[in-house]
Amino acid sequence: MPVETSEEREVGDADASSFPRCVSCGTPVTIVTVTDPLEAVASPCGCRIAPGALESD
Ligand SMILES: [Zn+2]
Repeated sequence: MPVETSEEREVGDADASSFPRCVSCGTPVTIVTVTDPLEAVASPCGCRIAPGALESD
């Protein structure tokens, strides 16, 4: 007698939607690399943004 387990846990998807959006192209930004006091590079899109521009708080 088979037992069906349809319960699935989604890990990561919820976090993906919580990433701040790039101010230039709207891509969810996972990494911000500060290259200069007045400049940072968003990843994975690669746009140059202002440091702190993506604060999602
Ligand atoms: Zn971008």
